Amino acid sequence: MLKGFFHVPKAVNEPVKSYAPNSPEKAAVQAAYTTMWNSKIDVPLYIGSEEIKTGNTKTISAPHDHKHIVGTYHLAEKQHIEKAIANALESRKAWANMAWEQRAAIFLKAAELIAGPYRARINAATMIGQSKNIHQAEIDASCELIDFLRYNVEFMTQIYNDQPKSDSTTWNRLEYRPLEGFVYAITPFNFTAIAANLPASAAMMGNVVIWKPSDSQVFSAKIIIDVFKEAGVPDGVINVVFGDALMITDTVLASRDFAGVHFTGSTHVFKDIWAKIGANINNYKTYPRIVGETGGKDFIIAHPSANVKQVATGITRGAFEFQGQKCSAASRAYIPQSLWPAVKEQLIADAKSMKMGSPEDFGNFITAVIHEGSFDKLASYIDQAKKDADAEIIIGGNYDKSVGYFIEPTVIVTTNPKYTTMETELFGPVITIYVYEDAKWEEALELVDTTSEYALTGAVFSQDRYAIEVATTKLQNAAGNFYINDKPTGAVVGMQPFGGARASGTNDKAGSALNLLRWASPRTIKETFVTPEDYKYPFLG
Ligand code: NAD
Repeated sequence: MLKGFFHVPKAVNEPVKSYAPNSPEKAAVQAAYTTMWNSKIDVPLYIGSEEIKTGNTKTISAPHDHKHIVGTYHLAEKQHIEKAIANALESRKAWANMAWEQRAAIFLKAAELIAGPYRARINAATMIGQSKNIHQAEIDASCELIDFLRYNVEFMTQIYNDQPKSDSTTWNRLEYRPLEGFVYAITPFNFTAIAANLPASAAMMGNVVIWKPSDSQVFSAKIIIDVFKEAGVPDGVINVVFGDALMITDTVLASRDFAGVHFTGSTHVFKDIWAKIGANINNYKTYPRIVGETGGKDFIIAHPSANVKQVATGITRGAFEFQGQKCSAASRAYIPQSLWPAVKEQLIADAKSMKMGSPEDFGNFITAVIHEGSFDKLASYIDQAKKDADAEIIIGGNYDKSVGYFIEPTVIVTTNPKYTTMETELFGPVITIYVYEDAKWEEALELVDTTSEYALTGAVFSQDRYAIEVATTKLQNAAGNFYINDKPTGAVVGMQPFGGARASGTNDKAGSALNLLRWASPRTIKETFVTPEDYKYPFLG
């Protein structure tokens, strides 16, 4: 062990590059896109020091051009998962004992690799594999991921610095041990940053990890793996497996050494995992940590005092960026009658000006949704809205999957505040609006609070401080991330710790020390300097 109390570099948020015409970053990402589009990768399983090609493969294609294949990846069988667990536990012996500053250096290096040499590639991979336009790829795959890595290193040192009081007779210490076992990270398709952060945050705290990425994010996952390798994450610390999610999960949860799950994805999957952990509880060596960030039905509510342009822009950006596939995307809005005609007019004008197509064309604001299952689900809700008497589609409503999974940005207006698309997470570029009577502001807030099972993000727009105060109070439990006069998306690491409660997750706030704390099991060490040698207390005399 080195001798010294080391300070880590102060975390700063990575500046978002503009990708304006003729900028060097635009040229770099276009070149990377072309190269990656025209090559085919073959992604193995990463278990210990081995890269395993099982021969049982699936193809990787671009959602905006689904016949175009950019690679394949190999699927694990049960024996591979068992092997990954064994490798992780073997690697734990060295990793859990490595000095924290060595772990910090690895992840700080990973951040700088993404900020520099890997930036164009990780952005291009996210554009191709997840159909993000360049701005969405940049704020996710580059900036948010860099921020997670830098800030988490800083948060780790804050946690380690948090020590109990001592006095002259005893010295009390808290040691933040890694969990006794391994952590299972299950990641969603929609954020490259989340995919990397879930295994990395646990690993940073000294844990070993089995990481199962989403089938729809393998293309950019490969770049994350390359970055971690180059940064120096030792073999076996983050083992990567692909394949049948149920089989993988059941095998992992059956292990006595399973010590925690770091999940982001849909609510029903998380509840299922939680139930299985409960059913297996007698098998485990330790109570597993269960951390899950799940679905949302995120809202915008405008007060009659709100600025119309701000409300309409909040809806357009909040609902349609990345085709509404952010867990934080606005998908229900409550607009007062007095503002509705003007808000509607601007929404229609905004939608008309939006171009939809491949992210390769930088003029496209909207690209494709992630896969056919999502496309079909969205199309069925749109078709139903066309038939229902209490719903009207005022913008969009068309879709086409002949080339890519394209769904037009769609606005449904309903006269029924409990209409199905006011309650259900659709995860696409569809928002439903309920127009309320101006005098019924508090009733509208009540609707916001009680209409959905979720509580992830939400926004209030108002120029009236009393109205803002009432909304902030009444909606205290309706959102884990609450926005005043801003869209409900775009949380920044270190600034707006992210997560929701109710059916939206365990609210362990990714991008904050609260999350990292879940990956440590503190040990209290009390040392007494002059130890008593007689059991009798003075009062006995
Ligand atoms: P998903 O639930 O379909 O998949 C997430 C992960 O779980 C994937 O790796 C998938 O393979 C795996 N999985 C699927 N079925 C499983 C099963 N039965 N057992 C174990 N694992 C299983 O979610 P998705 O479509 O990738 O992502 C979208 C969802 O994620 C939305 O509901 C969104 O709101 C949520 N999300 C939430 C946050 C947040 O911070 N709250 C962030 C991003 C996404």
